[in-house]
Amino acid sequence: MDTQKIIALDKKYYMNTFGERIPIVFEYGQQSTLYDKEGKAYTDFVAGIAVNVLGYGHPALVEAITSQAKKLIHCSNLFYIEAQAQLAKLLVENSCGDRVFFANSGAEANEGAIKLARKYFRDKGMNKYEIITAVNSFHGRTLATLAATGQEKYQKPFVPMPAGFKSVPYNDLEAVRNAITDSTCAVMIELIQGEGGVIEATHEYVKGLEQLCSERGILLILDEVQTGIGRTGKLFAYQHFDIQPDIITLAKGLGGGVPIGAIIAKESVASAFEPGSHGSTFGGNPLACSASIAVLTTLLQEGLIERCAEVGNYFKQKLNALKDRYHFIKDVRGKGLMLGMELDPSVPGKEVVNAALSEGYIINCAGHNTLRFVPPLVITKQEIDGLVDTLDKIFKRTLETRK
Ligand SMILES: *Cc1c(COP(=O)(O)O)cnc(C)c1O
Repeated sequence: MDTQKIIALDKKYYMNTFGERIPIVFEYGQQSTLYDKEGKAYTDFVAGIAVNVLGYGHPALVEAITSQAKKLIHCSNLFYIEAQAQLAKLLVENSCGDRVFFANSGAEANEGAIKLARKYFRDKGMNKYEIITAVNSFHGRTLATLAATGQEKYQKPFVPMPAGFKSVPYNDLEAVRNAITDSTCAVMIELIQGEGGVIEATHEYVKGLEQLCSERGILLILDEVQTGIGRTGKLFAYQHFDIQPDIITLAKGLGGGVPIGAIIAKESVASAFEPGSHGSTFGGNPLACSASIAVLTTLLQEGLIERCAEVGNYFKQKLNALKDRYHFIKDVRGKGLMLGMELDPSVPGKEVVNAALSEGYIINCAGHNTLRFVPPLVITKQEIDGLVDTLDKIFKRTLETRK
């Protein structure tokens, strides 16, 4: 089917939640390159929005999925599941957590984390249910995670929101301190706000939050749905800070493209979930868990996380060199291969995204007019050079047309 026909079908039959999508249909990919229906190649710096950490067609991932698919795709959680148990072990052995639960998406992992935090205090006979989150955060599209998401534009059409959420300015420890009441059960934040525009939490804020939560006897939940799985140059972003969160949520990169989410928690917290507390039909099924085991073992055994840190530094330096030359680049932010470049509002990021696309580079624009770069962790320096040269060319043209 050709691209125009596919677009026509979408416009007729699919709910219009994504508006005018980019009029490209991808056929297949190899490493960090995607090929569209017409055979045009694109170097991918979006990776399905920080999902395809191993790029496209990685033999270890393809082999894990195909061999598992031949044996058993799904099996209910009425039974024990080999890949699920093994993946849980792998996540615990490589994090500060003790127990894992598998969901199917980031929003679902966060929903589970919210339930777990509330149940933990309910079991102690304490009426603590409120969760403090950050303004400009993103935690998902379900009702509870929308309520947690500190962005009114997402919430407004769907009021009333579930009760028990309060958002306060990011990187402002005093604001969190002042927001804590006897009803507060947890603080939930991203260590780098992704959808919000690649905004990093400061070291003092994160260390301060850990201390504040422990002083006040409330839980620290880190939404690592985007920052997790090697993205920032560590397996989990919290490992940059020498802290121990009570609960971590994961999704995006975890299955390398196969949908899977996870909650990791400390034993004392995890034990609040008892038989019947929580569940999922698909969560932790053999196919998704086998994919995820392949992703994690490949990342860990092939040194891809250290490589991400190194290649990310190289990339960030190059973006900073562009910033020195173009006054409309306001900021370069991020860690590892989760980088952002904020542009002055006079240069709409969407136009740069489209210009890059016609040159064969996929990038995207997140909050605060920020170009976001979250490529596969297998991206090469040559590919980064190619993108930076292309941005240079686009920015030069921008300067000329604005003279
Ligand atoms: C993408 C994202 C989510 C939502 O994940 P879904 O899989 O789309 O539900 C939640 N939190 C963060 C930080 C995210 O980046």
